[in-house]
Amino acid sequence: MDLSKIFQSQKGFFNSHKTKDVAFRKAALSKLKNILRENEQRLYDAIYKDFRKGSFDTFLTELNLVYKEINYFLKNLDKLTRPKKVKTALSLQPGKSYIYADALGVTLVIGAWNYPYQLTLVPLVTAIAAGNTCIVKPSELPENTMHLLAELINSNFPSNYVYVAEGGVPETTELLKFRWDKIFFTGSPKVGQIVYEAAAKNLVPVTLELGGKSPAIVTKTANLEVAAKRIVWGKFLNGGQTCIAPDYLLVEETIKDKFLKLLKDKVAEIGYNDGAEHYTSIINKRNYDRILGLIDPEKIFYGGRCNEQTLYIEPTILANVTYDDAVMQEEIFGPVLPVLSFRNYDEALEKIIEGEKPLAAYLFTDNEDEKDKLLSRVSFGGGCINDTLMQITSDYLPFGGIGNSGIGHYHGEFGFLTFSHQKSVIEKTTWGEPDWKYPPYTNKKMKWLKRVF
Ligand code: NAD
Repeated sequence: MDLSKIFQSQKGFFNSHKTKDVAFRKAALSKLKNILRENEQRLYDAIYKDFRKGSFDTFLTELNLVYKEINYFLKNLDKLTRPKKVKTALSLQPGKSYIYADALGVTLVIGAWNYPYQLTLVPLVTAIAAGNTCIVKPSELPENTMHLLAELINSNFPSNYVYVAEGGVPETTELLKFRWDKIFFTGSPKVGQIVYEAAAKNLVPVTLELGGKSPAIVTKTANLEVAAKRIVWGKFLNGGQTCIAPDYLLVEETIKDKFLKLLKDKVAEIGYNDGAEHYTSIINKRNYDRILGLIDPEKIFYGGRCNEQTLYIEPTILANVTYDDAVMQEEIFGPVLPVLSFRNYDEALEKIIEGEKPLAAYLFTDNEDEKDKLLSRVSFGGGCINDTLMQITSDYLPFGGIGNSGIGHYHGEFGFLTFSHQKSVIEKTTWGEPDWKYPPYTNKKMKWLKRVF
C-alpha cells in the first residue's frame, strides 16, 4: 500500500467533516469493540505466538484497558464534545465565552512492542473519539499481533479513515516525513528523539510516551508483606517488560535482609517457571542477551536460570547492588530486580533526583512525612503509594512521563484533550460596543481603560 496515498486520502476524508460527527465517532468505537470481542481468541493466540503471553494476562493488561477506554468515551463523548461555556471578562462584555474541542485532523500513532494491543488501540480509540482520522504503526517485533491488527482494522474500516501500516524503521521513517496534525509515539527515549526531530520540521505537535528507570522505595514503616507481594507482581508481570514496572528497589538498610527473604518467598510462591502460562517470555534474542548481560552472577540472590530456546529468563533478584553496576546504567526492561539499600531517606531521594525524571515511582511506607517528601521533591510521571502499576488503570488520572520519560498525557479526558485543539471563541453582541477601543485616544479614555482593567 502506498502510505502517502493513504495519508492524502485521510486528509480528504477529514475535510469532509464526517469524522467530527459525534454519532459517527460512537459508531466507529462500537464497531471496534465488536471486532475485538469477536476476535478475542485470535488476539490471544497471536500474542502467545509472539512472546508466550497468556490469555489472562492479555485480557487483564491489554484488552481490558482498550474496552474500558471505549466504554469511557461511549459514555462521556456527548459531554466532552459540547462547547464549554466559561466566564466572560468585564472588558469583553456584552458577550459570551466558549472553548470548543476541535478535532486535529490526520493523526499518526506509533506503538511499542511490549503491550502491542493497548499501546496502539487506546491511542487509536482516543483519536477516533476526538474526531480525527488515524494511521497506526504497531511495532514490527511481535509480528503476529502486528499482522492481526492490520487484518482486523484494514478489513473493517475504510483506509481513508483508519488504517494500520505494517513495518519497521523504513516504513516509520517514511511516515514521519508527512505533515501530520498530531504524532502520538510510544517507545524508547532514543527513538522518541528521532520522532521529535522529524515532527519539528513540519511543526507537528507530539505526545511522547517514553521509558526510563522507575524506582520503588521500601521504608521500615511499610507493611512488608503487602509491599513484597505488590512489587513482585508489578516487576515480573509481562516478563518484566513493562514501561512503568519498578526498575530497581531502594530498601531501608535495617529491613533489607528481611525484605529480600520476603521477595524471594513471593516469587517462589507464584511459580514463574519456564513454560508457566502466566509468565511471558523475552521478546527476542537481542533483548534476551542484553538482559542476561546486566546480571552480575556474583550478586544473584534468587533466580538466574534461563533457556535460550524459549527465551525464558527466571525472575532474578540481585542483592548488594550499587549505583555503579551495569544493571543501574540503563532501563532493564526484563525480569531482573536489583536491590539497593539506604540508611538516609533524604539521600535516597536525592539520588533519584540526580538521574533522569522517571516515568513512575513507588513508595511503600506508613509515614506521612516520607510520603510528603517524595511527592514534593521528586518529579516523575505518575505512581503509587503502597502499590505498583495501578495508576495506569484509572480513566480519571493522566498517564504520561516528564522530561526524559515523556511529553504529554492520555487516558480518559486527558487523552481527549491531547487529540483535540482547545479553540477559544468570544461571541459578541452587535450592540454595546465600547467607545474607548477606537482612536482618537484621549486622557479621558485612558482613565476609563485603567478603571476597566
Ligand atoms: P522503540 O523506541 O525501539 O520502538 C518504538 C517504535 O518506534 C516501534 O514501532 C518501532 O518500529 C519504531 N522505531 C524504532 N526505531 C526507529 C527509528 N530509528 N526510526 C523510526 N522509528 C523507529 O521501543 P520499543 O523497544 O518498542 O519499546 C521499549 C521502550 O518503550 C522502553 O523504553 C519502554 O519504557 C518504552 N515504553 C513506554 C511506554 C509508555 O507508555 N510510556 C509504554 C511501553 C513502552
